[in-house]
Amino acid sequence: MPSLFDGASARIEAALEHIEISEDVAQRLAQPDSALKVSVPLRRDDGRLTVYSGYRVRYDSTLGPAKGGIRFHPDVNADEVSTLAFWMTMKCAVMGLPFGGGKGGVAVDPKELSPAELERLSRTYIDAIADFIGPDSDIPAPDVNTNPRVMGWMADQYRIIRRAHTPAVITGKPIEMGGSAGRTTATGDGAFHALATMMERWERQADGTTVAVQGFGNAGQRFAKLCANAGYTVVAVSDSSGGIHNAEGLDIESLIEAKNDKGSVTEAEGEALSNADLITMEVDVLAPAALESVITADNAEDVSAGVIVEIANGPIASEADATLIDNGVAVLPDILANAGGVTVSYFEWVQNRQAWYWDAETVARRLEDRMVGATRALADRAKDEHVDLRTAAYIMALEKIDRAAAAVGTTEFFRARQG
Ligand code: NAD
Repeated sequence: MPSLFDGASARIEAALEHIEISEDVAQRLAQPDSALKVSVPLRRDDGRLTVYSGYRVRYDSTLGPAKGGIRFHPDVNADEVSTLAFWMTMKCAVMGLPFGGGKGGVAVDPKELSPAELERLSRTYIDAIADFIGPDSDIPAPDVNTNPRVMGWMADQYRIIRRAHTPAVITGKPIEMGGSAGRTTATGDGAFHALATMMERWERQADGTTVAVQGFGNAGQRFAKLCANAGYTVVAVSDSSGGIHNAEGLDIESLIEAKNDKGSVTEAEGEALSNADLITMEVDVLAPAALESVITADNAEDVSAGVIVEIANGPIASEADATLIDNGVAVLPDILANAGGVTVSYFEWVQNRQAWYWDAETVARRLEDRMVGATRALADRAKDEHVDLRTAAYIMALEKIDRAAAAVGTTEFFRARQG
């Protein structure tokens, strides 16, 4: 199996069959601008010291400061962080945000830590990367297993280190610390707007359309709730403990309650279902909203859904692309479908820099405008180029970065000058 990063690069190759970009840009995008690996020592509640590995990668800053979340998960590693930072680069470019791409993480299982240990870990990680990040260079945000509280600890630690209030260094903060209205729900909201925009194009109705959501965290829960409210039938959801199914439609509120109060959706009413079966079940719309590579060459042929909304980053391994395209599965690619989060992070950064805060309606309206606009532009481009939506997204992102790079000069420019 190719590394996650090799798989990600394959998508660039596919886009480059349709457009030409400067050789300089292609070369620069083949590796990250800078990658930091740090030790994150944690004094445990019982006095022991445990040292974790932490990472922060700035992949590309052609369009602006690097932007990307921080993940706490035992599987975090250098390849994964680089790949996630690369995807952030493409995502910000597709969305027309003035950011490059970055990502960070600590290889830790936060479920094994007490709240006080989690706070110390969050602060120590920022101590380790403080010289690498900043509101004009690299701006972290939440990702898997990190949330507004963790961002609050991190922003506070940065303030202590710098001896200055610098809220724009981290987004996804609690509202009281300069967070934006609408940030917590933004990823699910954005994915829903992307799906709704495409459904309109396809002249399909929510009524009678079935949906399955893998991963019932921040993004998956919100997406499932919006789908149910809009008239879709959400027939299956899952989390790391497994899934549940009801052909008549699940009650999303009671699933959220089961997840919050008892730790898993499997505690709610419904027939049990494995995560593997959820991916291949008969459903119209499949939304993987957990981790990478859940659809691979091994199970792509068995996917029955006609539409996949990639809420997670990289849920489809690149080796599965051809099978899904051949089988007529429409994939709303991650670099568009989950871009609601970074879009409202951008709004938060703007509000922090101006110290001028927007109400929830303004944030929601601006997010919807951006998501609908980007999805329509992507669908148009895919049609013009006769390519799938993912390839169109990469084409648009690469063009954007290429134009920005050309503005400061490329080999082609300097050669032409020499005559
Ligand atoms: P989260 O930690 O809130 O939720 C993750 C969910 O996935 C949990 O319900 C967990 O139980 C479930 N899960 C974990 N392992 C699983 C497995 N093997 N099978 C099934 N379910 C599993 O995380 P989140 O913020 O909702 O992020 C989910 C995905 O969305 C990630 O890929 C993340 O990178 C992506 N994403 C999140 C945001 C954001 O703003 N939160 C933005 C863009 C992309």
